[in-house]
Amino acid sequence: MDEYLIANGTVVTLGDNDEIIDDGAVYVKNGSIEDVGKTAELKEKYDCPVKVDATDQVVMPGFICAHHHLYSTMARGFTPPGEPAYTFEEILERLWWKLDRALTEEAVEYSAYIPLIECIRNGTTTFLDHHASPSCVDGSLDILADAVEQAGLRANLSYEVSDRNEPGQGVEENRRFLDSLSSRDSEFIGGMVGIHASLTVSDDTLARCREVAEEFDVGYHLHVAEGVEDHQDALENYGMRTVERLVENDICGDDTLYIHCVNVNEKEIELIRDTGTMVVHNPESNMNNAVGVAPVLEMLEEGITVGLGTDGMASDMPSQMRVAHLLHQLDKSDPRVAFVEAPELLIQNNVEIANRLFPVELGKIEPGAAADFAILDYSAPTELSGDTFLGHLIYGLVDATVDTTIVNGNILMQDKEVKVFDVPEVARECREIAGDLWQRIS
Ligand SMILES: [Zn+2]
Repeated sequence: MDEYLIANGTVVTLGDNDEIIDDGAVYVKNGSIEDVGKTAELKEKYDCPVKVDATDQVVMPGFICAHHHLYSTMARGFTPPGEPAYTFEEILERLWWKLDRALTEEAVEYSAYIPLIECIRNGTTTFLDHHASPSCVDGSLDILADAVEQAGLRANLSYEVSDRNEPGQGVEENRRFLDSLSSRDSEFIGGMVGIHASLTVSDDTLARCREVAEEFDVGYHLHVAEGVEDHQDALENYGMRTVERLVENDICGDDTLYIHCVNVNEKEIELIRDTGTMVVHNPESNMNNAVGVAPVLEMLEEGITVGLGTDGMASDMPSQMRVAHLLHQLDKSDPRVAFVEAPELLIQNNVEIANRLFPVELGKIEPGAAADFAILDYSAPTELSGDTFLGHLIYGLVDATVDTTIVNGNILMQDKEVKVFDVPEVARECREIAGDLWQRIS
């Protein structure tokens, strides 16, 4: 029986109880949280070791990233040849579609290790990945799943189906991977049907994706209305806007994630609401690609579940939350907005999204939930209570260093030391592979 205490910390439970416990402790047993309370009380109750001393630290549920691209690692520092991209379409064509086509099996593997390490370093314990590697499609999701299992994290994986290289490329990889999932532990690895975006798939390809989703009873993970190109393409080729086209093709529903939704109009927001489809906001990525500001506050107002992702730019979730807060304040020229909503994306809606996709309870510290934690160095300079928590989260905890990361009771990092990878060695190998890859593209 594997049991231990995390003790002497400030425990932020979130979840239904939503308590902040000073000098708090958590009793972990066989990968689950069994009890939460004051350190003195839990030490009295349980005869087991204190494996994690969280003195001067805040113990939170592990963070969840609702949209990631592990394959984006090799883009770091790379300057695509030719003129700088201006439109979103140029960004796709000149950078991303050149980079993903150059990925070999080895590059897929090493590009995954780096963000997995960064997830561990930032307390991101669960993520949803959207993968593309057109030159090595078959088996690519297994390479990722093996890497995720090695890291000890939880991930939902999918391949971005697209017609840009050949019609329906990736459909079979999603099918194969979903079919293989019975041989993996569903508490750690799951899958969906990935689709790149409306503008790169025909109706016929959408029908093939639908077959796979129905066969395995899963939803879709796709970019929606990121740049203006998506609805321009839908209007030109199908006589309707992006979300209308997707709903018409039944690519929607309460297990489906629309990523971005920057360029959606009122009617499309109503369709997203009426179909119960979830949305994922990626503020840093939207700013980086200069595609616009997603109507996140409007979608929340309609009751849509809007989560938060990094779109491959990073693996650190609190910083995305702060950017969402600042972006929407600036966008509305109103300092009163987004203070509650930005944290809601991360600590409520990402939890709801993950709990629809994984068979274990995530995102809260309470008995029965999975023992996934981000433990941060943080000595609060002002009172830390339920009333002040959001202020501490946005202006303080966001910059706090994660000291310890735990998934399913397994300690993946402690005293800031990643235990599951030889980090300098992995990075050295990755730099070599990236150098070859850059040369091939240039
Ligand atoms: Zn993306």
